[in-house]
Amino acid sequence: MLVHIKDLIKKAQKDGYAVGAFNIFNLETALGVVRAASKLGAPAIIQVSETTIEYAGLKAITQIVEAVAKDEKVKVPIALHLDHGKSFRSVAECISVGFSSIHIDASELPFSENVLLTKQAVDYAHKHGVWAQGELGILRGVEDKAQTPEDMAPFFTDPEEAVDFVAQTSVDTLAVSIGNMHGIKKFRDVGVPDLDLLRLKKIHNNLPATPIVLHGASGIKKNQIEPAIELGVRIINIDTELRLAFTNAVREILNENSLIYDPRQVLTPAIAAIEKIVEEKIKMFGSAGRY
Ligand SMILES: [Zn+2]
Repeated sequence: MLVHIKDLIKKAQKDGYAVGAFNIFNLETALGVVRAASKLGAPAIIQVSETTIEYAGLKAITQIVEAVAKDEKVKVPIALHLDHGKSFRSVAECISVGFSSIHIDASELPFSENVLLTKQAVDYAHKHGVWAQGELGILRGVEDKAQTPEDMAPFFTDPEEAVDFVAQTSVDTLAVSIGNMHGIKKFRDVGVPDLDLLRLKKIHNNLPATPIVLHGASGIKKNQIEPAIELGVRIINIDTELRLAFTNAVREILNENSLIYDPRQVLTPAIAAIEKIVEEKIKMFGSAGRY
């Protein structure tokens, strides 16, 4: 069933686990996420990025997620969220088609401008009964070259600034930069970085009621994820691992069988590959068997 994100997160807050936020980009990836969540009795957030909206169309991708989540066989709660909305317009469009949660990512702007744009988006979201995620600190990982922990440190979320940010913007959830990293680079060159758990602890102590969001969590191991959940992380974003799994499954079946011509035969293993990753993450995040 399709629910408001607040229902998922309030329960996760109370019971001390995290909900996976899985990026999808078509019917097959949505099916993979929902099947895994259903199998394990887990909540899930399905999120789409602006590039997915550009690829599939906002109405089409929204209706795909809604149709898959509202299937009568699906008893677990699924919430729909915009990932990395970069403008007020983008946020407003997603609210107009029924998203229950949006992310306004103004993290690359100076603090005061980040506050200004975030607050504008939060106010609009709240007026429409929608939750808003803000972001403080910059995640490296897609565009730049050098990414040692030392290079990244100046971009991390400042625990004191986080208090001001939440107070000034009234965000419902807060995305932080504590060593987490977007993209494929950590798998190919630099290695998956460790999280700065001491910094996370300070942020959580300063903002004990604010659910924390961990972006760029593909590849992060259980021994980092579990303490992060104890320190207030309630939403964990997984994108790159899903893209890898999907594409590798397609590549494999096409390489194995040059006579294959039915796209459903090509994509069925890709759905299964998405399911497998989502199941692993649900178990790691402690959200299995909650519904
Ligand atoms: Zn992200």
